[in-house]
Amino acid sequence: MKITVDQDKCCGAGSCVLAAPDVFDQRDEDGVVVLLDPEPAEHLRAAVREAADVCPTAAIALTERD
Ligand code: SF4
Repeated sequence: MKITVDQDKCCGAGSCVLAAPDVFDQRDEDGVVVLLDPEPAEHLRAAVREAADVCPTAAIALTERD
């Protein structure tokens, strides 16, 4: 799995950080998403899929091939 985030789309809702705190963080100054781990390990992927699903602005894109 590969993750990309579009920081221009992100509205700083933080849903992704709640779903997958090992993979996503937010900038202190404005809450915009920071991608900590663009190629997450297997055990994190279900949480990453949930994060992408719950993101209100569809700022998280996933590529499922390894
Ligand atoms: S859930 Fe989406 S909009 Fe919210 S902080 Fe994460 S990437 Fe940004």
